[in-house]
Amino acid sequence: MSDTSFEMLGLSEPILRALSTEGYQTPTPIQAGAIPLVLAGRDVLGLAQTGTGKTAAFGLPLLQHLAAEKIAVKPREARALILAPTRELALQIFENLRLYSRHLKLSHAVILGGVNQNRQIAALRNGADILVATPGRLLDLIGQKHLRLDHVTHLVIDEADRMFDMGFIRDVRRIVGLLPRKRQSLLFSATMPGEVAHLVNEVLRQPARVEVSPKVIAAPRIAQCVYHVAAGDKRTLLNTLLQDEDMSRVIVFTRTKHGANKIATQLAKSGYKAEAIHGNKSQNARQRALEDFRSGRARVLVATDIAARGIDIDGVTHVVNFDLPEVAESYVHRIGRTARAGAEGVAIALCDPTEQPRLKAIERLLKHPLEVIGASLPPQNAASKERPNSDTAAPRPRARRHRNPRARYGRGRNAA
Ligand code: AMP
Repeated sequence: MSDTSFEMLGLSEPILRALSTEGYQTPTPIQAGAIPLVLAGRDVLGLAQTGTGKTAAFGLPLLQHLAAEKIAVKPREARALILAPTRELALQIFENLRLYSRHLKLSHAVILGGVNQNRQIAALRNGADILVATPGRLLDLIGQKHLRLDHVTHLVIDEADRMFDMGFIRDVRRIVGLLPRKRQSLLFSATMPGEVAHLVNEVLRQPARVEVSPKVIAAPRIAQCVYHVAAGDKRTLLNTLLQDEDMSRVIVFTRTKHGANKIATQLAKSGYKAEAIHGNKSQNARQRALEDFRSGRARVLVATDIAARGIDIDGVTHVVNFDLPEVAESYVHRIGRTARAGAEGVAIALCDPTEQPRLKAIERLLKHPLEVIGASLPPQNAASKERPNSDTAAPRPRARRHRNPRARYGRGRNAA
């Protein structure tokens, strides 16, 4: 958080009122940096990931512009277009913007794949001041003549690096090609690989660059540790860990969809209320699972990296890396699901002997080793048949015990 206040950033009274209802007191660094620039009409490149407050960083000034411009949106058109790579992120942006604009007279619509399109078509019939969309379905609806982008004056591309990872970049370029040249454009990305730099040059005009140093925001509050465990013992260890009631809201990450299903089923058999989310589930099933987790009906959410992208649920006490990710940056993204909104969190990695190189890569990225807890490393190729004993093999990590080593706050690039 910074010394600035939202008032000092030049936001209007109806927006300030909405922020006060949301309990936002101080702008986050990305908000303090980006809001004045966007209000001044600049194109902005924001280097920040989910969890830093970037939705409000682009959303608040955008809403203020739209309200001030007082242009009536035409049927089947939009004034501001926000592109997001995943359905979850699109929904989250949509919901946040609705909250921020509760005292403004602006219309909203969200377009995403994986659900029936009829309601989305109906929502576009009268046009929408703000349209949040995933690229594929947006192009479908444009192709079916349910929408035109001729009068879009504001564009946001969120999680641009993820658009590349997920193969949406051609769609994004096609969409940008349909927009008027005269517009304000904002692009947010957690990382800046070469492809994103190209896109920035194509889409933004003389952009101002705002970068947040993420380690200041999230990592210091996350205690991180690793259990060295045989692959065949991971599930038992997870069960043992969950006997700790402090693990009240837990996200378990797996590399594969199949793995996510298996763990959720096994946890349910052991009496733990668990839900799995991954790309093979319908949008409704994913939303239901997320809602159960958010409300506390499910204690554990088992997720793949992609499905978890953009999940914004407060009060996640623990993140368990059941499998270590193939790309080290994904680890940092995963653990960022805990310790949100000022809370503390614990990240536990379960590392089997074959995953040693992945652990090393993670530690290199973090620039420190993870604290080792519990059983010592079993010999290579000798999966232990012993069940971990909760007193010895699985001592429980606690946030306060592991005051934290500094992590670089990057972000994941692998697909599940
Ligand atoms: P985002 O990075 O946009 O996904 O935001 C992460 C979380 O921080 C969301 O739950 C927001 O509601 C919350 N948030 C954003 N800005 C602030 C702020 N200035 N003060 C408190 N919470 C915030």
